[in-house]
Amino acid sequence: MTRHPLLPLLSLTWLSLAALAPASLHAETTGGPDETLEVEDIAEDENVTDIEQSQPLASAPKADAEPEAETDAAQADPTATPAGTGDASSNAQSENGNAASKVIAPNIDLKEVAPPPEVQPAATEAETAPATAVGDTKAAEAASDADQPAEPATPETATAEPETAAPEPEPEPVQATSLTLLNTEVLPGTSTRLAWAPGIQIAGLSQPTPVLVVNGANPGPNLCLTGAIHGDELNGIEIVRRTVYDLDPESLSGRVIGIPIVNLQGFQRGTRYLPDRRDLNRHFPGSTDGSLADRIAHSLFNQVIRHCDMLVDIHTGSLRRTNLPQLRADMNNPDVADFTRGFDRMAVVHSSGSDGMLRTAAVAAGIKAVTLEAGESLRIQEHQINAGVHSLNSLMEKQGMVSRMFVWGEPEPVYYNSFWVRAEHGGILFSDVELGDTISQGQVLGYVADPITNAQHPIRAPRDGRVIGMAVDQVVMAGFAAYHIGAEAQTPESAELAD
Ligand SMILES: [Zn+2]
Repeated sequence: MTRHPLLPLLSLTWLSLAALAPASLHAETTGGPDETLEVEDIAEDENVTDIEQSQPLASAPKADAEPEAETDAAQADPTATPAGTGDASSNAQSENGNAASKVIAPNIDLKEVAPPPEVQPAATEAETAPATAVGDTKAAEAASDADQPAEPATPETATAEPETAAPEPEPEPVQATSLTLLNTEVLPGTSTRLAWAPGIQIAGLSQPTPVLVVNGANPGPNLCLTGAIHGDELNGIEIVRRTVYDLDPESLSGRVIGIPIVNLQGFQRGTRYLPDRRDLNRHFPGSTDGSLADRIAHSLFNQVIRHCDMLVDIHTGSLRRTNLPQLRADMNNPDVADFTRGFDRMAVVHSSGSDGMLRTAAVAAGIKAVTLEAGESLRIQEHQINAGVHSLNSLMEKQGMVSRMFVWGEPEPVYYNSFWVRAEHGGILFSDVELGDTISQGQVLGYVADPITNAQHPIRAPRDGRVIGMAVDQVVMAGFAAYHIGAEAQTPESAELAD
């Protein structure tokens, strides 16, 4: 018998993973919760746990009623952030003492087929240091913030933020600058493809992750778009592609950095997880000596995300649930709340975010960040994609990055607190409502039919609201989170978060 050619490779990978595990548990103070989270993620939809672990929306964002809760939520892990940054800076000193000569990126028409990008040598880990561009300045600020964990970073950092990112033209013209990213210089008025490689694979088999960069001819903020951190969430890949490829570097103000498929390995296998079954979106900002997911997260966060002024991380529902196009945002953070006003025709759902989420780590680093949810996993859904592209275009116009004949649909987004309605019986779920429906208290949302006894168990709305997420028809058990209901909230004043 001949052995399968992949077998030696697989066993090697798992051996090395096994070897990593004890070290990571020993090294990181967050080792305990990490394991718990992993099990939890698999057991229930991340969307559900995110909402249920969320801090309530404060009655007024600046009130000092909740400052500690806010700080806790924003600083995902008080020990993790400085540790990650410390690693980066120590690498900066040791590996990058003499900054490698930068490569000028070729100007590529992104609409043409071009050769794949070349991965630059791995000295890029600490490459946030050379401060030539707006993004680099920001990265330095973020790093210095992280060096002082005692200081409650979010409010101060955030209030200072708009000055850096303000799109308003100065009286005297400011020149656009080169963007140095992934050890490569991208000149103003050009677009190109770069490659990010976290350096965790077998060197000879390493597969770089494409990073699309459009550096505008005019100065402005850095907007980052990430798709498929969960490898089976396809709508975001298409939202990033359409948005980035529609940009003209000659007329753009600022930079757009798009990573259509962050989790390439999950994407190729059609799964949300990394090869070690971990959820990448629970490991930011990561660390250099933790698990596989920690290392990938650390590499992405330091090589790319720290260059962003604004971040939109695009997801879909998971485990056969679908989401109305919506933002998830920590409305207790005034800067994030203000950021959400740039998105046209988007429901905005308050969620303070969970530890390890990219959005949470980015906000803690002083980056305005939201999650954009659209549709369900493993599908390409045209109307969901259109909604995402439309809203990102409205954001870029609002930020002064593009100037288009843009027709705004709503003067203000609608804000929601939210809760889940669960099935009380096992059986087959059939829904009577659709995404986006407005519902009233007592209304039947759907039925669970028992296939053996023929019993029909209605699921009723406990109060008024709107269906912002729901399970597709499927087999469910008692306790299954079936309907995600949004209750309109005023901001900054608001009703309490139910549940
Ligand atoms: Zn996701």
